[in-house]
Amino acid sequence: MRENEDKKYRLLKSLINEGVIKSEKVKRAFERVPREEFVPKAYKKYAYDDTPLPTLEGQTISAPHMCAIMCEVLDLERGDLVIEIGTGSGYHAALCTEIVSPENTFYGYVVTVEILERLAYFAKQNLSNTSYYSKVDVVVADGSISLPFRKNVFTKGLVTAAVPRIPENVLEVIRDKGSIVAPVGSKYFQELLVITKKGKEVSVSNYGGCIFVPLRGLGGYDI
Ligand code: SAH
Repeated sequence: MRENEDKKYRLLKSLINEGVIKSEKVKRAFERVPREEFVPKAYKKYAYDDTPLPTLEGQTISAPHMCAIMCEVLDLERGDLVIEIGTGSGYHAALCTEIVSPENTFYGYVVTVEILERLAYFAKQNLSNTSYYSKVDVVVADGSISLPFRKNVFTKGLVTAAVPRIPENVLEVIRDKGSIVAPVGSKYFQELLVITKKGKEVSVSNYGGCIFVPLRGLGGYDI
């Protein structure tokens, strides 16, 4: 749809002008991934509004600026092995894939974990319609507890639901010197933190306030 292409271009321009998109690799990923293919039909016309949109089961796809900020602060690079907690629509996973494994290459990959089966299925469909499916593994699991992966395998991680504390379960599967980005705080308001593993220690940078849907599951807010 031509109208969506114009809106996409305008959104991209404003995210660049506002300094949200800083790098060529994030800009390129935004140019290539069609957000309209990751939202339910009724919301396609809003795909390039800079706002979260409903997906299924009361969940949302994050606003474009938040996806961009997370990709930038994590400094995703070609070849990164990425773990995402909170697949949702699959849009953010597709953006990460464009950065870590561009074009027809297989440099890096993305594994994304979703607790709700219906959303995992929705994401798989979206990723397959946009031909990212071969580079993204969608796993149905509770990403709030010990993850079903080997320790120290991933180089970068993203948590795209609010977490009550620094997610040790995600840090566990990250290699030394790797980083994760996560919204840490209460159910209603969080701070976007980048946590970098340094041996047995971590360093933390704070990128300011944000609001995400709360993490569910055994390590979420409900228990
Ligand atoms: N990254 C997504 C948006 C994430 S919204 C996108 O690009 O569209 C947060 C998602 O986290 C929701 O889909 C929600 O179901 C999922 N979620 C919540 N708790 C979770 C948990 N414990 N483990 C895995 N996924 C979880």
